[in-house]
Amino acid sequence: MANVPEYFGSDVFNESVMKERLPKATYKALKKTIDNGDPLDIEVANIVANAMKDWAVEKGCTHYTHWFQPMTGLTAEKLDSFISPTEDGHVIMEFSGKELVKGEPDASSFPSGGLRATFEARGYTAWDPTSYAFIKEKALCIPTAFCSYNGEALDKKTPLLRSMEAINKSALRILKLFGSDATRVTANVGPEQEYFLVDREMYAKREDLILAGRSLYGAPAPKGQELEDHYFGTIKTRVQAYMKDLDEQLWKLGIYAKTKHNEVAPAQHELAPIYGTTNIATDHNQLTMEIMKRTARKHGFKCLLHEKPFAGINGSGKHNNWSISTNTGVNLLDPGKTPAENAQFLLFLTAVIKAVNDYQDILRASVASAGNDHRLGANEAPPAIISIFLGDELTGVLDAIVNGVKYEDKRVEMEIGVDVLPHFPKDTTDRNRTSPFAFTGNKFEFRAVGSAQSVAGPNTILNAMLAEEMTQMAEAIEGGKSFEEVVKEFISEHKRIIFNGDGYSAEWEEEAKRRGLPNHKNTVDALKCLKDAKYIDMLDRQGVYTKVEIASRYEILLDNYIKTIQVEALTAVKMVKTQIYPAACDYLAKVSSEVVAAKEAGIPAAFLTEDATKLATLLQETKDKLTTLENNIAKAQASEEEIFEVATMWRDDVFGMMQSLRETVDTIEELVDDSYWPIPTYVDLLFGI
Ligand code: ADP
Ligand code: MG
Repeated sequence: MANVPEYFGSDVFNESVMKERLPKATYKALKKTIDNGDPLDIEVANIVANAMKDWAVEKGCTHYTHWFQPMTGLTAEKLDSFISPTEDGHVIMEFSGKELVKGEPDASSFPSGGLRATFEARGYTAWDPTSYAFIKEKALCIPTAFCSYNGEALDKKTPLLRSMEAINKSALRILKLFGSDATRVTANVGPEQEYFLVDREMYAKREDLILAGRSLYGAPAPKGQELEDHYFGTIKTRVQAYMKDLDEQLWKLGIYAKTKHNEVAPAQHELAPIYGTTNIATDHNQLTMEIMKRTARKHGFKCLLHEKPFAGINGSGKHNNWSISTNTGVNLLDPGKTPAENAQFLLFLTAVIKAVNDYQDILRASVASAGNDHRLGANEAPPAIISIFLGDELTGVLDAIVNGVKYEDKRVEMEIGVDVLPHFPKDTTDRNRTSPFAFTGNKFEFRAVGSAQSVAGPNTILNAMLAEEMTQMAEAIEGGKSFEEVVKEFISEHKRIIFNGDGYSAEWEEEAKRRGLPNHKNTVDALKCLKDAKYIDMLDRQGVYTKVEIASRYEILLDNYIKTIQVEALTAVKMVKTQIYPAACDYLAKVSSEVVAAKEAGIPAAFLTEDATKLATLLQETKDKLTTLENNIAKAQASEEEIFEVATMWRDDVFGMMQSLRETVDTIEELVDDSYWPIPTYVDLLFGI
């Protein structure tokens, strides 16, 4: 393999390829579209399409696809070949501007939450020129937005792009007040991706991992993560080879894979990229997840992206590092060193604080999924209560502003615009790791995102809510209020969201309740706010989601929750019935025959009788719980109630019963001879590599 700089981005139709392959005028027109969102005329599109096709064909491509991100949270593609028949029975390779700009997949099977009836199932994909086309598996992939015949967004990308527009508009309005010459503001994200690797052969023997992506059973291994020997530990050779391969593939796709290390739990790892605009970072994160999975197969692994593949040890998240910056190179969340930037920073910081306090419900909802329920509000980080960690210094500065007093000795005069800010150390491990939304020096780290989730959803909400607050702020200032008044007023009213203590503690739960902060421990509760006019109106006002689109998201997310629990429950039943129960019965038969043999031989066998009885009791319990679970599944499946009530049934009666059944099964696992146990154990899965 050549040097990294030589092959980095070699599978991307990026600026340099465009410059090299497009006539100057075409390149300029395309650049205007990319940078300013100007519409692209069809003549230009034709030339671009042809150049893209030539480039892709030279690289061995035969097909192209409009690559899009439906509301499944995954990516989708339908491949069309470039071939076009000629009169003499041959073919030429062709790709037109029309094909580049717009596609019309009959995508009727994607979730639409009622946005499309099947009889008008058409969906359209539209080229997103702000994200480069790339080559994947010998196909030219064109990043696209996906919408219905009436223009409603059927995907995760369209609202994200709209939210970036909202940020741009509102932030520029504020920057104008500071006399900034910036002409564009973008939101950025660097998503740290956690994942597990398990041996593929063992994985293949676990129906729960195959079908549900997580283990539904499994007694804890005698060793977990208590020795803290895996975190940042030496990477095993086989894993190293995997990571190297992964890096190389990501680099070819122009993805800035930067950091890799072992995570806290055994078999858990992390990859962090250098951040980019929320749009491109989202595309890149989707690609990263896909390539992680594909590369795992090549190396005899299975890559598990589920939020909680194994009980009893850490699950996986995606730390969403988020900031906003100008095209003049200023990070608006960087405290900076000069007074003017301090005032400006404080204003943006205030907007973020107010946004998180005002819209904590919907921010929580943006990371809700059946998988993520195992992390949030369970016994691991972060809690389901949304709060902001600012650190003592910054909190001190804000307190001083609110109380109209000086901050620390003489550093601060309370006229904003003076250099009030001390130097901010980064939030490192010995600082706060328990906050769901932590200020880390020049960005916020939203830690509640699930490892399997698309970051599009949470970033759309983050951008939208910040845009809303910045709009209000701009209105207040344009209406005659001073920066100081605005900061003071906003912070006084919203500082309850700031919490610098231990987010995992029981005291915080109590304290949060006193402060009136919601604590939605599961998806069903969290999604309720999508029916609330406060959030619907805000998203509509910011032009991010229409009311109809929000209504569809509510349906889709609840439906996805129900279906996920259904798959898990049916798998849980099947595994017990066809694998675990028969195996445990076989073992019971063996112990029973030993009881008989001992008695015949005149050997005292109370210990054997005890074992057999204990196992028999647990098997009876298993059988009873299994029956209840099956009945509850049937009831939930037959329910004709509103979707919210149905989802509640799946959560309380089905998921709850699954958990209970698991407890019994895991106890049985600890009693049964290893050679009888039909599926790989936690020891095999977590330490088997
Ligand atoms: P840590 O590992 O302590 O969380 P890092 O500095 O390594 O912190 O950053 C982790 C992630 O944050 C990386 O993906 C990085 O690209 C991203 N990041 C850094 N600066 C910013 C920023 N200004 N905006 C958005 N993401 C950022
Ligand atoms: Mg981090």
